[in-house]
Amino acid sequence: MPEAPPFNPSGSSEERITAHWALCPTPTGVEVRQGVRCVVDPYTSLIMACQAKGQEAWADIDLSRGTTLLTPGLINTHTHLELFRTAPIERHPDQTFADWLLAVIDYKRGSTMVDAISACHHSMVELITSGTTCVNDISSEGASLVALEQIGLRGTVSPESIILGDLSDVGGPTAEQQCQQAIERWLSLQESWDKHPLLRLGVSPHSPYNMTPAVWEQLVTHTTPALVHTHLAETRDELTYFKTGSASLSELDEKILGKRFAPPQVGVSPVVAYEAQWGSHTNVVAAHGVFLDEADIGILAQHDVAMAHCPQSNQWLSGIEAVMPYHKLKAAGLRVGLGTDSSLSCPRLDLRTEARLAQTLHGLGLEETLQLCTVNGAAVLGQAELLGQLREGYKADLVLWWHPSADPATLSDPLALWLDPDTIAVMVWVDGRLILDRCDTLWSQ
Ligand SMILES: [Zn+2]
Repeated sequence: MPEAPPFNPSGSSEERITAHWALCPTPTGVEVRQGVRCVVDPYTSLIMACQAKGQEAWADIDLSRGTTLLTPGLINTHTHLELFRTAPIERHPDQTFADWLLAVIDYKRGSTMVDAISACHHSMVELITSGTTCVNDISSEGASLVALEQIGLRGTVSPESIILGDLSDVGGPTAEQQCQQAIERWLSLQESWDKHPLLRLGVSPHSPYNMTPAVWEQLVTHTTPALVHTHLAETRDELTYFKTGSASLSELDEKILGKRFAPPQVGVSPVVAYEAQWGSHTNVVAAHGVFLDEADIGILAQHDVAMAHCPQSNQWLSGIEAVMPYHKLKAAGLRVGLGTDSSLSCPRLDLRTEARLAQTLHGLGLEETLQLCTVNGAAVLGQAELLGQLREGYKADLVLWWHPSADPATLSDPLALWLDPDTIAVMVWVDGRLILDRCDTLWSQ
């Protein structure tokens, strides 16, 4: 287990934060400011000002060496906090995706609410120490809501539903009964968590291969989620299931539920088979989106579906060829953010690692890597007016980064320094509250 970072349990509102440089992402680029003083209103937790003061502001910085950078907190658009493991679950070349899912089901078997909350804490240690302040999470029973509140991280949490159809002939409930149960569970979570200042409730039909269109529709219609969060076109097995009507996924159904299911339409992609569902809510967020063709991308764009790009997880599950058609999705006008997925398929829940891989895979410039982790992630969550920017009126979700040896006076590219693996998050604020402070530990070394 990783060592717990020195969280500041009592928290304290900081009104003024000074850094050598600030990196201010916007939808069109990144403005780099020298010697910034960021002022936060402690009552509203909003940024009041974030002005460049040049080297005059550096006099305020109590630091003997290195360079500090201020950015908005990073936004992770696809997590499963409740699934934590110190090393991901291997998928060997001769194993199917269903075999891997079976190992995930085994991992979850017997897990109590306390285990799930503890797993969330471990996930959050990795996330917060690498600068994440907001997650878009999928939860089984709501444990991540409890854990997020305990630590004070911002998030949208979507209770997950897997409803393949009628199970009454194998001694289980009908699809209608399963759906009713999922709606009731959602409504009871809403009763407890509605109007929480940092948390929102979404809904998660896990994926088209384990949710019928009728149930999807019912689930979204009878709840009032902030967004709909699903998995889409993640593996070749999923595509084969839709194209042929049978694949390892239907064998998995038989193993787990005692019955095989088929997709609603055989011979078409999941995007085409679920076309009506992409418009079922104003904000549908689909994670992965690897195996998509031109027609699929056109349909997703037409419904303004947002995409959570998880480069590390995609490669872990499907090999290095499994790459989201990022530039085609962007050219079609889709919103794309970065996500880690869970630690069962991602070695480290660190968005900058995802950003570096995305940079290599798609040839991105440095500005775009920071936009993907901040302003573009906020757009995916439908919170572009509130999160992801260092700007007056935006929520004070902030990260102070530190590079131990860079000289601020001779630094030529602060953006490159932000992505440098030697740069670390030393202070993290969510909603104006300090939730990580390791300055004393690190700066005294
Ligand atoms: Zn996932």
